[in-house]
Amino acid sequence: MVEKRSTVNIVTLGCSKNKVDSEVLGAQLHAMGFEVVHDSEKKSNFVVINTCGFIGDAKEESVDTILSYASLRKRGKIARLVVMGCLSERYKKDLEREIHEVDAFYGVNDQSLIPALFKLDAPRPEPSNSCQSVRILSTPSHYAYLKISEGCDRSCAFCAIPGIRGRHISRTIESLVKEAAELANAGVKEIILIAQELTYYGIDLHGKRMLPELIAQLSQIEGIEWIRLQYAYPQQFPDELTRVIADNPKVCKYIDLPLQHISTNVLDSMRRNITREKTIELVKKIRASVPEIAFRTTFITGFPTETEDDFEELYQFVKESRFDRVGVFTYSHEEDTPAFQLNDVVPEAIKQERMEKLMTLQQDISLEINESKIGRVERVIIDKIEGEYYVGRTQYDSPEVDNEVLIPAGIEMEPGKFYNVEITAAAHFDLYAKVI
Ligand code: SF4
Repeated sequence: MVEKRSTVNIVTLGCSKNKVDSEVLGAQLHAMGFEVVHDSEKKSNFVVINTCGFIGDAKEESVDTILSYASLRKRGKIARLVVMGCLSERYKKDLEREIHEVDAFYGVNDQSLIPALFKLDAPRPEPSNSCQSVRILSTPSHYAYLKISEGCDRSCAFCAIPGIRGRHISRTIESLVKEAAELANAGVKEIILIAQELTYYGIDLHGKRMLPELIAQLSQIEGIEWIRLQYAYPQQFPDELTRVIADNPKVCKYIDLPLQHISTNVLDSMRRNITREKTIELVKKIRASVPEIAFRTTFITGFPTETEDDFEELYQFVKESRFDRVGVFTYSHEEDTPAFQLNDVVPEAIKQERMEKLMTLQQDISLEINESKIGRVERVIIDKIEGEYYVGRTQYDSPEVDNEVLIPAGIEMEPGKFYNVEITAAAHFDLYAKVI
């Protein structure tokens, strides 16, 4: 019988890579006899906050979250509070000095020490047979992220991640295939390959890009039906990868390729190693090889060298390219990045205005693209039931960031299963459908 005080709530902020770190920690704590919950309202004695700290907004959210749990700790509502992740890697000393209610701060590479800290207070652990997995998933049980490497060897001028996460380290194909097979055994049908930079996978281990080989082996795993690729770097994007997306039926016709800008001036000062012409060529090439591909990208507005003309160039590019999804961030002036030496000359209001202009433009493009899908038959996986709808996704939609397909409840459907549906209506970022 697990005692009430043995519940650990892991609160995860930031990206899907953080999610995976929290899930691995969750499995370690579970093996010690704790009940583990993710981002839960459930009463718990112990709380771990996995922070994000690479840009201003993310840092603010992390600090606010720490402060709200610190207040609970101070009032004796929780017995132990631990902070880990990027923010605490980056600002550990400052945080220790300022927030005394936190029992311990860990960075991104010493999180394996956290279970030892909890052991001091743990109830006598019952040997746990209920979890053989190396992860306690925070996602619905039918999809999971698979982090194939850590760190990054690139040096994009705006990015603090290489300084926080260190150099690129690929996991071996064997360990990834083993983990994916375990996930499949536990009911996962869709795996989402993530890394700071997917296309670099394997170079540190084998001297060459190994992502196609990894995908080939993952797609042999019984039970895995979708493999999705998230976060690739445009320079030297391998042709072979495009062929894999086109030819392998398990690989979703989907790519998340952050372009960050289109003006060669800005790309140069961002140290992206690519020009406007090469970027346009790449987008064309990918679309020619995989005509149905859903193309997600992100841009930054207000980089120090971005002029009005550069922004206009970006605006026209987004208008003409008609990407399926676009995320836009305003530039965040971060210490310990190469761009910090530049003056942060674009006022916040202009950064924001440019971001909103792009988002408004993309909103109309998204609606048009979605409306063009009405009448099409698509295979969807059902993620959940929400209110009067089953919420599903097609292969063109990644969880949490892309379109949802809403199917009126009333017929029998099961989360985690695939169904064929007909798209009946469209909104800016959602589709409506009926089962056929
Ligand atoms: S590729 Fe560039 S933006 Fe992405 S993590 Fe590496 S340095 Fe940062």
